[in-house]
Amino acid sequence: MYRKICKRCSNKSYSSSKCVRWICPYCGVDLRYESSTVVEHRINIEELNEKIGQMRGRLIYKELS
Ligand SMILES: [Zn+2]
Repeated sequence: MYRKICKRCSNKSYSSSKCVRWICPYCGVDLRYESSTVVEHRINIEELNEKIGQMRGRLIYKELS
């Protein structure tokens, strides 16, 4: 599995192959020529915590708005 970080919006996207057309799912920019990082199929605690934090932030925002 490969990971690329978008140079435009800084979001991470994942793919099982680095040869296919790679479009950022967040902003739609073409990431084909960006360098990819190999990631393993296991739970990354740091990223998980980051995601949980983002979700929590969104819920709080919803409650306040
Ligand atoms: Zn992007």
